[in-house]
Amino acid sequence: MSAIILKTVEEIELMRESALIVSKTLGMLAGEIKPGISTLALDTMAEAFIRDLGAEPGFLGLYDFPNTLCMSPNTQVVHGIPNNDPLQEGEIISIDCGALKNGFYGDHAYTFAVGEIDPATEKLLRITKESLYAGIDAFRAGNRIGDLGYAIQHYCEKEGYGVVRELVGHGLGTTMHEGPEVPNYGRRGRGKKFVDGMVLAIEPMINGGTHRIKQLKDGWTILTADGQPSAHFEHNVALVDGKPELLSTFQYIYDALGIESDEEIPFRAKPLSA
Ligand code: MG
Ligand code: MG
Repeated sequence: MSAIILKTVEEIELMRESALIVSKTLGMLAGEIKPGISTLALDTMAEAFIRDLGAEPGFLGLYDFPNTLCMSPNTQVVHGIPNNDPLQEGEIISIDCGALKNGFYGDHAYTFAVGEIDPATEKLLRITKESLYAGIDAFRAGNRIGDLGYAIQHYCEKEGYGVVRELVGHGLGTTMHEGPEVPNYGRRGRGKKFVDGMVLAIEPMINGGTHRIKQLKDGWTILTADGQPSAHFEHNVALVDGKPELLSTFQYIYDALGIESDEEIPFRAKPLSA
């Protein structure tokens, strides 16, 4: 992974714009996910939606990825390829989306329920999302990369879940993957110190069982080694005045699904504009 590139206040505002394009795209998709729709149909909608907002899909063609969205159902962890299979009641679908505007990338992800899901899977989704905020809360001046990873790892392992080791969060900017690497595991007090101007994609990838993974022959799809489900939530966060500030938001998803949530309020410097 390349060097850590600190962002100016102006650059962070441009990155917020890119992140919010992804947020709006995920919000649009939230209203379309239902049994019977295919991940490829959702992908086509997302590409048109991103282009209508004056941006480019961030993943399409990146490292030769063939689509706009990474679509990873059920036991798939990340990097699944959209296809024509209809989603089924009771499944989960992790959607990771990127957008490029004004030269900066947005990159975030959410795991959706398709209709009603079983309580154990619902808990996996809830804990993974809560661990994301535990990680964001550790992204503060005075802390280090290891503190952030420890926060996520501890939050998930106490529930018996597996924290994927091979895939990590990352710095974000004019390239999709910049330094530093941001593992979802770590030791407190270890690693690079956080400084103002860092923008991170923080993204716990948490398995219901073992942390071990395997890869399909398509060269992309990562899935759990033991066939347990996996969840993935990702936000883009800047360090401003020593504190974490969310650039992305799940609010568009919550608006589409009628969910009330105050989880983002501690990490938002100003209210979301319409
Ligand atoms: Mg992502
Ligand atoms: Mg990412």
